[in-house]
Amino acid sequence: MALVVLLAAPLLLWQTAHWSRFLALTAINDGSRQTLILVVENLRGELARFRSLPHLIAIDPAFKRLLKGVITAEDVQSANLSLERTNRIAGALDIYIMNRSGLTLAASNWASDRPFIGRNFSYRPYFQDAMQGRLGRYFAIGTTSRERGYYFAYPIRDGPDILGALAVKVQVGHLERTWRGHGHEIIVTDGDGVIFLSSHPEWRFRTLTQLTEQTLSRIAAERKYAGAELLPLSIEACKTGLVPDDILRIRKVPISVSDPPDGPIQRTSLGSQARDYLTLSEEMFDAGWRVTILARTDSVGRQVTSAMLVVGFVIASVLLIAAYAVERRRRVQERIALQAQAQTMLEQRVQERTYDLEQTNVQLRTEVSERKRAERELRQAQEELVQASKLAALGEVSAGISHELNQPLAAIRSYADNARAFLDRDREDAARSNLAGISQLTERMAHIIRHLRTYARKDAVAARPTPLLAALREALSLLEHRFVEHDIEVVEDLPKDDVMVVGGDVRLQQVFVNLMTNSIDAMASGDRRVLGIAVRAEKEAVVVTLKDSGPGIGTDDPARVFDPFFTTKEVGEGLGLGLSITYGIVKQFGGAIEAANDPAGGAVFTVRLVPARSLEEETV
Ligand code: ADP
Repeated sequence: MALVVLLAAPLLLWQTAHWSRFLALTAINDGSRQTLILVVENLRGELARFRSLPHLIAIDPAFKRLLKGVITAEDVQSANLSLERTNRIAGALDIYIMNRSGLTLAASNWASDRPFIGRNFSYRPYFQDAMQGRLGRYFAIGTTSRERGYYFAYPIRDGPDILGALAVKVQVGHLERTWRGHGHEIIVTDGDGVIFLSSHPEWRFRTLTQLTEQTLSRIAAERKYAGAELLPLSIEACKTGLVPDDILRIRKVPISVSDPPDGPIQRTSLGSQARDYLTLSEEMFDAGWRVTILARTDSVGRQVTSAMLVVGFVIASVLLIAAYAVERRRRVQERIALQAQAQTMLEQRVQERTYDLEQTNVQLRTEVSERKRAERELRQAQEELVQASKLAALGEVSAGISHELNQPLAAIRSYADNARAFLDRDREDAARSNLAGISQLTERMAHIIRHLRTYARKDAVAARPTPLLAALREALSLLEHRFVEHDIEVVEDLPKDDVMVVGGDVRLQQVFVNLMTNSIDAMASGDRRVLGIAVRAEKEAVVVTLKDSGPGIGTDDPARVFDPFFTTKEVGEGLGLGLSITYGIVKQFGGAIEAANDPAGGAVFTVRLVPARSLEEETV
């Protein structure tokens, strides 16, 4: 759209110029036509007023007498007075009577400085026309008065004879003053193209074309323009193509009266004073005149400029609006594109983030199930290890038991052998004493075997109130042979009465067996071998402390000893599972276990157990 306007702009401007010019010229032309009609009518009216006057006066018999008979001074004076009166009434310039030879006999201006009386006007065409019986009409500058006038002449007849002529000179110059209008000039030219009436004084007695020598000499002979130079105006005609053919645009150069009369008119030297006129003419055939209106066309240029400015402004506005609309649309599209881009980026980020979250979710779910599986496996492993540990302990205990049982068995055999020998010798008392020894030994063996029974079943029952001191003694008893073997002194600091804690017989024994076994192992190579066992009942917990005189825990972080498979023992001697199982069991009981080194040397294990009272309260 904008492009079309842009491309069409020169054409639009050209069309605007063309049409506005056409309209302006047409308006001027119409105005000129009106003015022309008025001017021509005015002129015709002026001339018509006097047209019949010579005829009327000429028929006066007094004038016929004047021309016929002997001329007397009285007759002349009477004619002069008559003409003067008539002239005054009619409003003409002069009225005068000429005889056959053109000599003026009587005149209305007889009393003026330069009366016509005695002057011969035979050279004037109006005289000649009248002498031929016609109404003479002529325009000329008065040779005597130097005043422009229009002459009507009529023959004075005496029957068929023409005795002379009566001429009426009419003033026409005064009309020019009424023509001075705004925006136009009015000229009246004669048949030769000489301007004799003009609203522009400087054009008076100039010609529209260069007159030929012949014409000039004829005019001189008629003394029509009283010796005026009759130089041509510099006129340049150009067709506009816009207004009807009889209207020409004439470029005219005004020439001042002071121009050298004989020099050629230099159009270039006066170029700046040139002015364009639109001309419109009408012939006045009876007078032989041509009336021309020259309308100024200055306003045409202004009107064309204004119209072009308006159209140019409209075009510029349309272009600006179009440019604004295009720019606006481009911005809107840009914004939409940006928004779409941002939307896409946002969606992409959301997708990425969603994908990440999903991935993380999947990972977390995997980790959770892994963890659960590991927990499950760990629990299973723990249970298995507890069982395995029990079996290992059983092995150890079995070794101890077999060692323990072998001794009484050997003693029983010796008692039995001795009893039989004493009976053979009839020493019944001695035999009875031996049998009593056997009985004691079997009692002890039965005690050992009771322990075996407790290890034989898997203890998976829930925590229950358990006598703590009994469990401790059971453990000491199980390991007695090892304490003896390594010459270990056990220092007990125990309450008088047993303390009930949350636990289970076998598992609690196992806790203490594990801890004591480690202490025995730790102290085995040392010089001093003392294991201190203390039980202290506090408000919230029952605390069991096992303190040995070994080298202490050989790691910076003593808590690591509870990690599964943490061991400082030689391959084959330890698995590193004992304390982790112990830890698990104590946790099962709702208690806690800590490992530390005593500043004075040796390791200290503290087991906190839940008093069974709390359990009872809970169950209540
Ligand atoms: P293991 O006895 O098979 O090595 P444990 O879990 O029972 O496995 O013990 C782990 C480790 O803890 C031992 O190897 C030892 O280094 C340390 N430890 C345990 N008890 C003591 C103690 N009383 N004195 C010094 N170190 C100990």
